[in-house]
Amino acid sequence: MCAPGAGPGAPSSILVIEDEPSIAQAVAARLRSEGHRVTVAADGPSGVEACARLAPDLVVLDLMLPGLDGLSVCERIQAERPVPVLMLTARDSEDDLLTGLATGADDYLTKPFSARELVARVHALLRRVARAREEAGRRPPGAELRIGEVVLDLPARRAFRDGTPVHLTPTEFELLATLAAEPDRVFTREELLALVWGYEVASGTRAVDSHVAGLRRKLNPGVIRTVHGVGYGAGGALAEAQGASR
Ligand code: CA
Repeated sequence: MCAPGAGPGAPSSILVIEDEPSIAQAVAARLRSEGHRVTVAADGPSGVEACARLAPDLVVLDLMLPGLDGLSVCERIQAERPVPVLMLTARDSEDDLLTGLATGADDYLTKPFSARELVARVHALLRRVARAREEAGRRPPGAELRIGEVVLDLPARRAFRDGTPVHLTPTEFELLATLAAEPDRVFTREELLALVWGYEVASGTRAVDSHVAGLRRKLNPGVIRTVHGVGYGAGGALAEAQGASR
């Protein structure tokens, strides 16, 4: 059972991009019954269009879509502005799924899923983003973290590489900010799950690996260092300490 009062506090605007009408309608109905405003798009291109038009608080995105697949949709909507994405996937598409997490989905649910599971996951994601926004709002203007040539503007929650803005998803930003805040520390995957996700994710520690892969691809391979058998740390400090010998 999910805890009582597990709601996000305020009704949110949610976009559901799903081509199977029965699933789309069931998901929309359940989220509406929780008080959210829900819009449904039935294919990739109309999903991208609806996301740009509505600027929703969260997107529920099916991986297998006609017109434009879920991974491409995810990349396009994340390029516009960071928005939390919960991806829906079939049980046998695990490789696609891990690519999806690296592409910028924040979490995923495997079909078939229960309505209760969906609501719990949506609310957890909304809470996580709201909490991160609150924390960002408490930062003094100009507060930043630096990893080599990568700068994280904490109040604005924006990332720059050599002064050029790079779009990160809410989860990617949070993960990198967590590592960069304690550059000398090595975090285990379990610690990162607890600190960044704050709840159990279905993919477990592989979600951490996928998001690390996404950050390395978007910023640079050295932005996060792997400590084999332990976990991850911010890359810049070690690179400097070791004379960038990697
Ligand atoms: Ca589908």
